[in-house]
Amino acid sequence: MTNTLLILPGDGIGPEVMAEVHRIIDWYGTKRDLKFEVTEDLVGGAAYDAHGKPLSDATMAKAQEVDAVLLGAVGGPKYDTLDFSLKPERGLLRLRKEMDLFANLRPAQCFDALADFSSLKRDVVSGLDIMIVRELTSGIYFGEPRGIIEEGGQRVGLNTQRYTEAEIDRVARSAFELARKRGNKVCSMEKANVMESGILWREVVQKVHDESYPDVELSHMYADAGGMQLCRWPKQFDVILTDNLFGDLLSDVAAMLTGSLGMLPSASLGAPMENGRPKAMYEPVHGSAPDIAGQGKANPIACILSFAMALRYSFDEGAEATRLEKAVEKVLGDGVRTADLMGAEGGTPVSTAQMGDAILAALDASL
Ligand code: NAD
Repeated sequence: MTNTLLILPGDGIGPEVMAEVHRIIDWYGTKRDLKFEVTEDLVGGAAYDAHGKPLSDATMAKAQEVDAVLLGAVGGPKYDTLDFSLKPERGLLRLRKEMDLFANLRPAQCFDALADFSSLKRDVVSGLDIMIVRELTSGIYFGEPRGIIEEGGQRVGLNTQRYTEAEIDRVARSAFELARKRGNKVCSMEKANVMESGILWREVVQKVHDESYPDVELSHMYADAGGMQLCRWPKQFDVILTDNLFGDLLSDVAAMLTGSLGMLPSASLGAPMENGRPKAMYEPVHGSAPDIAGQGKANPIACILSFAMALRYSFDEGAEATRLEKAVEKVLGDGVRTADLMGAEGGTPVSTAQMGDAILAALDASL
């Protein structure tokens, strides 16, 4: 099967960090005979400059056809005054919506060399490797009715938490499938004690488990208790499955267990395509970092680890994904640091390209 990849570097540091991913893709082609058919295109401010909109219809159509989209970052001060519908972020939102990417995967992985960056004690976070699966296209951010209405002479703010069985079913399947490729454990979080949508969530997740994934260990937890447990002893979790609102909060808590923004990858997955691979987009959690753009200071690791997720979840190359993650771990263990990773111990930071060099050298050494 050919591996097709659409690369959208975007704005600010997006193209800088993506340049390092290109070198890694080339490495896999020459050293591991793992070939990708790569096309590159514009998104965000770069697309607005070229086409007058943050994502052209032609780029959208390409995104629907490929096995995976890899996106850098979008946005920048130059575009702040644009009409809402033309802002760079709208390009990103259009991709997520039209590809129907309902499962957002946010790993929280703590490399031993960076454990002191966490606000928690080293032994609580060192070696941490958990995955939050957040439902991304439904729930309270989309439910109707919504708005600010007049009632009894005062204004009332209104949002609706709404989930259909089918919406819960499909994201639960994504979480169980993922768990099978990891530690085989899912903890589902909602508020079934006070919300009917939580009761339905729990019932449907349990049913999907019993019917299709009895081999995966399943537990349920109230989302508030889940937040506490994430800070108390996060290593008890493997995959956490939760809804859009709770996932928004819990994934940010989990992310900060591990330190710098420049380290955090993510994936958003949709329904399987004809070739069995899920619709997928991979992107670092960070933005376009206009404060450091063009200076060769950006940390490319979040983008590189996003590509590692693509290897694992789109291309079924789990062993190669692990090879890349181990290369990153080795480089960090050797003390190679971009500026954002400089701790109290000081030292000289490396550039974006030097971090890429070090990771490529570690990949070579892994052969
Ligand atoms: P940001 O993530 O771009 O930057 C926050 C801080 O983290 C900055 O100090 C930046 O220098 C640093 N940082 C981020 N990524 C880094 C990396 N790889 N290496 C080293 N340092 C890094 O968030 P922001 O400043 O709030 O937003 C800047 C722009 O990015 C805005 O236009 C915003 O809308 C956009 N944005 C885009 C995305 C996305 O594309 N997914 C996400 C968030 C923000």
